[in-house]
Amino acid sequence: MDNQPTVNTAGSVSVPPASAEKHHKYEFFKVVQGYLDEAAGVIGLPEYIQTILSQPKNEIIINFPVKMDDGTIRLFKGYRVQHNNLLGPYKGGIRYHESVSLDDVKALAAMMTWKCALMNLPLGGGKGGVKFDPNKVSREELQRITRRFFHALGSNIGPDTDIPAPDVGTDAKAMAWAMDTYMNTVGSLFRQSVKGVVTGKPVAVGGTLGREKATGQGLVYCIQEWAEERDFQLGGATLIVQGFGNVGSFTSLILSRLGASTIAVGDHTGYLYNPEGFNPHKLQDWVKKNRSIAGYPAGKSISREEFFKIKADILIPAALENQIGIEEAKNLQVKLVAEGANGPCSPEGEKILIERGIDILPDVLANAGGVTVSYYEWVQNKRSEHWTLEEVDERLEKAMQRAYREVVELARQKKCSMRVAAYAVALQRIASAYGERDIFP
Ligand code: NAD
Repeated sequence: MDNQPTVNTAGSVSVPPASAEKHHKYEFFKVVQGYLDEAAGVIGLPEYIQTILSQPKNEIIINFPVKMDDGTIRLFKGYRVQHNNLLGPYKGGIRYHESVSLDDVKALAAMMTWKCALMNLPLGGGKGGVKFDPNKVSREELQRITRRFFHALGSNIGPDTDIPAPDVGTDAKAMAWAMDTYMNTVGSLFRQSVKGVVTGKPVAVGGTLGREKATGQGLVYCIQEWAEERDFQLGGATLIVQGFGNVGSFTSLILSRLGASTIAVGDHTGYLYNPEGFNPHKLQDWVKKNRSIAGYPAGKSISREEFFKIKADILIPAALENQIGIEEAKNLQVKLVAEGANGPCSPEGEKILIERGIDILPDVLANAGGVTVSYYEWVQNKRSEHWTLEEVDERLEKAMQRAYREVVELARQKKCSMRVAAYAVALQRIASAYGERDIFP
């Protein structure tokens, strides 16, 4: 009997209480639909387009078994939501987190549609995820989960159909496993031509230079535009950063080169404060080795509540959605919230921030550097090219600056928030394409 496999569901893991409570109540997809409705009103979007965009095209749910290191079989629940492919193949990350739900993935997929349209990329919107805590499985288990999930996705993805990328809990290594799995399903004749099935891959297997830092880099380009408009000096500025994974750590690191110092950080294990400023290189290395900021020797441990009360110039939320609600928005003592994460402000939180005169660089614009460089990777894969880091950064900088100006301009014209303006610019582009193509048949 000892060797009999036992089946566990993947949902039996724990989340820090504060955010877990919020997550169960928060209807992220409704929030995104609310912004869609608002932006549609602002630009007079034809009703039939609003209706089409109000729901994803496809929602795929896969329950798949994986053999764990101890011989037991655990059942995982994975999602891929394909929101819209009018402008090109579905595009969006794969999230591994214990809070992943269909509602989150639908919201994130819709946001990818707006993001790609805003950045003028020939791509649509998608998102995926598997509900489990990647910190609680071994490297080998992580590989088997990834391969089994991507195998199960089968022909629902492909370089001209739907192109996943990293998100919370996944990285370049996971994309290498994903690509390898997909390549092994297409037959030897086509293997080399399907590298672009995922982006965010390691450079050695077809990734692009500059992709790992791209979201942080794009966020910094946006912050620079914001600072220039206000004559604000980033040299000597202070930051607080929630989430010190890919987006948070690279944003902190790149801003440190401009003279800005990170004085508080937080992640799923807790929060640290250091008025002298953290060394982002050392902290990033620590997190890469230890999977969290826990135990990092420099800095005083503080509560989540204290973190959101720290006086600083900029808050970089770079963890999850719904982190800045009413309470956090009332407590924050910053000039700018630059959204590295998707959906970090709740609508109620955002309202308070706006009333208090705190600027917000909205996710759809601010973190679009990731998908933009993913697009560059996809183009390089298609053309068998290798661009230099300078070339990638230069293109990204121009793309972020153009999008930033378009959003600011529309926000001024329509007297709406930057978030609604970012949605509106995207919707105008999508509406032009629907206008030309009409509806089949
Ligand atoms: P990551 O897995 O590299 O890092 C996530 C961070 O969030 C980690 O530090 C983790 O500890 C922290 N975190 C998780 N749960 C938390 C909790 N309950 N409280 C506080 N912190 C918590 O992920 P990432 O790729 O950096 O993504 C972060 C955010 O940025 C997500 O919202 C993601 O959708 C968004 N984003 C990522 C990219 C990208 O290219 N990776 C692009 C655009 C947007």
